[in-house]
Amino acid sequence: MANNELFTATEICPRTWQITYSFVEFGQKVNPVYCYLLDGDNYALVIDTMYGYGNLRAFCETLTDKPMKVVNTHFHGDHIGGNYHFDEAYIHWRDLPLFYAKGPNAGHFPRTQEEIYERAKSVALPEYADKLCINDFKAQEPMILYTIEDGDIFDLGDRQIEVIYVGGHSPGCIALLDRKNRCAFTGDCCNSNTLLGGPGGISVEEYLENLLHFNQFRSEFDITYGGHQVLPACVVEQGIELCGRILAGTDEKVQRPMFGRMMTYGTSLSREDFGKPGAKVFNMSYDPEKLLKKPAKPQVI
Ligand SMILES: [Zn+2]
Repeated sequence: MANNELFTATEICPRTWQITYSFVEFGQKVNPVYCYLLDGDNYALVIDTMYGYGNLRAFCETLTDKPMKVVNTHFHGDHIGGNYHFDEAYIHWRDLPLFYAKGPNAGHFPRTQEEIYERAKSVALPEYADKLCINDFKAQEPMILYTIEDGDIFDLGDRQIEVIYVGGHSPGCIALLDRKNRCAFTGDCCNSNTLLGGPGGISVEEYLENLLHFNQFRSEFDITYGGHQVLPACVVEQGIELCGRILAGTDEKVQRPMFGRMMTYGTSLSREDFGKPGAKVFNMSYDPEKLLKKPAKPQVI
């Protein structure tokens, strides 16, 4: 099947596209997932690569004739799966070991071409299930990763995209600020279902510090383009407010199943409330045992 049948692109700002799968049945089984292509005079920047279904690189080449660089907002499998169609990628240094981790706590597992193909078929809309071709899929293998950190710049020529460290959902989560278009690409760093407490987890206190850092740039963007949601920039302030309540012990402590186990959420906001007038847009799960950061000390190896 042609790659332009597997993906859909929507131009959200000049020379900037939100890309998603057109053949996947989003709903209970699979969350909506987005990646972004920012075309520039020097090169084009691909922000995240989703699950790795189909050849994302070939699809992006229908939108830009510039060379492409890939940056991952964090190491989770629904953000790095399509990296393997590209030659190399950039990721925050704190997520580097987790990118290559194996086992039940890793967000990413090396997968064969057949495994990825079978996964894609299992989530495809009925009319697409028999049309997928195994050659559209690529095995996940070790690849070159360059590390980035807070303050680094992707210079596309006509616009600069700045890396902002917002660790929490993963230790190396980042947002990418596009001042020219007054938007931030946020991956999963703050949204209506911000999951804290995964592998290498970060305390609520540290996450709050990172949100306060992100909030210093707040006057420079109006909207956040995330990996699963598009939200107004006030999501950052709401995150700060809720972290404060969690640390004070005055949050709602709602128990809700996620990934087959009960998790504690700061408020009762659910996906169903999202978009209702007056409804907040931020919620987060957290580990009640991991509220405060540990005192900094040199690592002993
Ligand atoms: Zn994630």
